[in-house]
Amino acid sequence: MMSEAVVGIDLGTTNSSIAVLHDGVPEVITDHDDGLVPSCVGVGPSGNVLVGHKARNQAMLFPDRTVQSIKRRMGTADRIRLGSAEHSPQGISAFILKDLVARAERCLDADVSRAVITVPAYFTDAQRKATREAGELAGLKVERIVNEPTAASLAYEVSSEEAMKVLVYDLGGGTFDVSVVALEGGVVEVLATAGDNRLGGDDFDALIVERLNKRLESMVQGDSLRSDRTVQARLRHAAEAAKIRLSGAPFASIEEDSLTGASRKPVNLSCEISRSDFENDIKDLLDKTLEQVEKALRDANTKAPDLDRVLLVGGSSRIPLVAKLLQKRLGVTPLGQIDPDRCVALGAAIQAGMEAGLDVHSVLVDVTPYTFGTGAIGHVDGMYTRHKYVPIIRRNSKLPITKSELFYTEFPNQRAVRFRIYQGEDPDVRNNTEIGSVYLRGLNEDHDAFEEGLIFTYSLNLDGILEFHARERLTGREVSGRVEDALAAHDATFEEFDDLGELEPGIAVPTGTAVKMLLERAKAAIPNAPKEDVPELKRLMKGLKRASRHKESGKIDELSGELAELLFFVE
Ligand code: ADP
Ligand code: MG
Repeated sequence: MMSEAVVGIDLGTTNSSIAVLHDGVPEVITDHDDGLVPSCVGVGPSGNVLVGHKARNQAMLFPDRTVQSIKRRMGTADRIRLGSAEHSPQGISAFILKDLVARAERCLDADVSRAVITVPAYFTDAQRKATREAGELAGLKVERIVNEPTAASLAYEVSSEEAMKVLVYDLGGGTFDVSVVALEGGVVEVLATAGDNRLGGDDFDALIVERLNKRLESMVQGDSLRSDRTVQARLRHAAEAAKIRLSGAPFASIEEDSLTGASRKPVNLSCEISRSDFENDIKDLLDKTLEQVEKALRDANTKAPDLDRVLLVGGSSRIPLVAKLLQKRLGVTPLGQIDPDRCVALGAAIQAGMEAGLDVHSVLVDVTPYTFGTGAIGHVDGMYTRHKYVPIIRRNSKLPITKSELFYTEFPNQRAVRFRIYQGEDPDVRNNTEIGSVYLRGLNEDHDAFEEGLIFTYSLNLDGILEFHARERLTGREVSGRVEDALAAHDATFEEFDDLGELEPGIAVPTGTAVKMLLERAKAAIPNAPKEDVPELKRLMKGLKRASRHKESGKIDELSGELAELLFFVE
């Protein structure tokens, strides 16, 4: 006789997943994939029903044979045409649930007939009832309908004895929800929710697609590829992949060969998108989510400092800018170590286990207990220093992980740069522990190489091995190395910096070019500079700006040097 399993299901707008307890520990069921099933249902050419990736892949090409975002229509009396049949929203959702159950039965070799299913906290009774019906249509006994933020909180804290207030920030593919919940002794209460059910990762993809379309238009004048569905489907796919890469790296390249419309000549699209451009594109949308965060806090009568935790949920919360903005706005470091797009299913499995009277343990995640970063020129506590700590892999990140950041040399003609590797949290590198360093020598002296900058990458694995890699973007010149025991506690050490007058030089400068920073420094120095030095400062600034505009690298070097020297005396 087959055993029976109680499962937790996250029936999402964009993606769904199913989780189960394994010796009391919740795990998402992966069937040789990442465990995420696109919430997409379609019919194939022969009338066969397609669920998940197969349906999603045909969505843009055959929109009339594919249904997406059915969750938005749950609880309505809509009839949805699919091939030759008509379905209710719960009927469509049942196809997704059946697919998830089949996956679980296959992988667990067990019967699956009882489930906990999650819904957004704002779902009405009608929407909850429709979700329950979808489960029943799929042959499940729905033990309970649970709120998504509740499930996410359970994934982080199975049984908290002390009372806690938690903010759950859930940014998915097409929806944004924020909830404030109170947790005590395994009981979770939703105090307030807010959000925008038309805001999410799809909008970010669309902004990248817009950039790509503009690019294409500049290549094939007049003739727009905007109305070509196949081209647009490919761009959409490439845009999403690039967006996901930008969560870990400062640039993502897009190569799409032979894009053609019906009778057109093939076009090859090859371009690069920078994280900073992408961040500029999405900043307004993220600001909107922050307004909703404030609304939820107001409605819950809670102030940011009273929050014990801020949880990142939903695939789009992996975008580093999200955590950065939340941290700035709330003053609390958001947690994201449990996979944001699987966290709700994991919590649902915990709830299912509790319902079944099982012994339930916490989600297992291997995280780094330390932050790893490097040093750069920049502001620390408002002071311009050579000791600014730039974190690259942050504490509590799930392992294994790879992250890169962009830097610039201090001067355009700089021939070498030294990247130091630190373990620690302090904004001043001198209070952190240096665990290694690497020189990248023989840098190109051309101004273009300076403008393109350098990429420094860290990869940290479960065995505590930190691999690092530094590369000059223009030339591809690179160097790499490793620290064997990066996860061990190290004694604090600090070695004085090299004298910059010698050849060894440089510390890299994060974001914005070194010239720009030098100019900012000069501007800031003017009010307090000795009167007799001001005209000279201004002259050098003006000259440097002009040289930089005209890319006169020799001149830039000369003036940067003079300006840096003068600043040394006037600051
Ligand atoms: P939902 O809860 O809305 O069903 P998910 O939580 O699965 O959806 O989120 C899906 C969205 O997350 C998609 O837009 C996807 O592109 C985005 N996403 C997934 N991983 C990343 C990542 N590493 N960086 C940025 N966006 C991501
Ligand atoms: Mg979700």
